[in-house]
Amino acid sequence: MLNFELYNPTNLIFGKGQTEKLGQLIPQNSKILLAYGGGSIFKNGVYDQVKNALQGFEIVEFGGIEPNPRYETLMKAVTLIREQKLDFILAVGGGSVIDGVKFISAAVHFDGNPMEILHKRLLIKENAVPFGTVLTLPATGSEMNSGAVITINETQEKLSFGGSALFPKFSICDPTVIASLPKRQLQNGVVDAFTHVMEQYLTYPHDALLQDRIAEGILQTLVEIGPDVVENPTDYKLAANFMWSCTMALNGLIQKGVPTDWATHMIGHELTALYEIDHARTLAIIGPNLYRALFETKKEKLAQYGERIWKVSGTTVEEKATEAIEKTVQFFHKMGMDTKISNYTSDYKKTADFIVDRFNERGWKAMGERQNITLEKVREIVEMSY
Ligand code: NAP
Ligand code: FE
Repeated sequence: MLNFELYNPTNLIFGKGQTEKLGQLIPQNSKILLAYGGGSIFKNGVYDQVKNALQGFEIVEFGGIEPNPRYETLMKAVTLIREQKLDFILAVGGGSVIDGVKFISAAVHFDGNPMEILHKRLLIKENAVPFGTVLTLPATGSEMNSGAVITINETQEKLSFGGSALFPKFSICDPTVIASLPKRQLQNGVVDAFTHVMEQYLTYPHDALLQDRIAEGILQTLVEIGPDVVENPTDYKLAANFMWSCTMALNGLIQKGVPTDWATHMIGHELTALYEIDHARTLAIIGPNLYRALFETKKEKLAQYGERIWKVSGTTVEEKATEAIEKTVQFFHKMGMDTKISNYTSDYKKTADFIVDRFNERGWKAMGERQNITLEKVREIVEMSY
């Protein structure tokens, strides 16, 4: 097992009706920025729950944070906080609102041009505005981690950053909020969380036995409940297990002591930046092709995954690994994912050139757990995904 430190200060408050506790979680006399997205919170009652729980607090509202939150939009909130001297932020929404709030939190007291936070991928360890979240969409794990992904409109870049100062102070996770989610977002949530686990699990066999078993437990749970929760989001058992699986997939726990990959996300982000394909759908396109292109170095772990998650029937490592990839694709299809770039855009032929150029400019020339995902491999993976 690799050495590790485990630090996660987020107070996670899980279950039905927990939004009522909001008023006790935010320091008294706080001046709050209430940040939200395109307005789903007005239709499903979450806004009313939040406002009821925050009676007596001074609140300034900031809506309009888009899916794949934009730097340009977030900077308006930064100005608002500075002008009105607000000192707490409450994110009410999915991963985009929470990620957006992490950027706002980091940018308010940043000495310099906040764009640098993204371009230089600065680690934010101090001077962040404290924030909490009310999660409305299980998927990203952003409610219990310190990372975020922000899109810059002007340059069409989608960049990630983070740091220990960017853990939410608290996150309220009430599984009943998923009742109003469109099917597409429920599907996305399952596949995003599934791929988060795969990025931290599907590397090579190692001696961190417990992490493997926890990771496999999350994968099995998502396979078991994924197709049903999409059809029955008001079923509390399904909703609660779905929400908790998504949080556990990316709150740092399964990543400790193990090698990680993350190249599926790095390539996937470019597809969203280029074609606005939903984040999870980019992962369903890239993930299986990455496993195929890296077959030689991932096959042992693929075989373990195939045996334990899919009960594959093959006898050799290669047979088990190949079947495991096919089972994964079938699962993604069952979850409503299209798994080719050409399913989303007819103008895809230059995608590999574009992504390889971008990675080259950023110096991303060796990715994955063995640093063997070179630019040639990236090209191969993207071209396999056409
Ligand atoms: P999202 O972009 O936050 O939300 C997608 C859509 O769902 C929005 O239109 C939103 O509407 C709607 N919605 C949210 N909750 C709803 C509800 N309860 N009922 C009805 N509609 C609802 O989706 P997401 O998948 O959570 O976040 C994706 C972003 O997170 C991407 O930018 C991705 O790159 C990033 N990400 C971050 C991490 C991380 O660790 N930080 C990990 C993976 C991905 P409204 O806007 O109207 O609310
Ligand atoms: Fe993700």
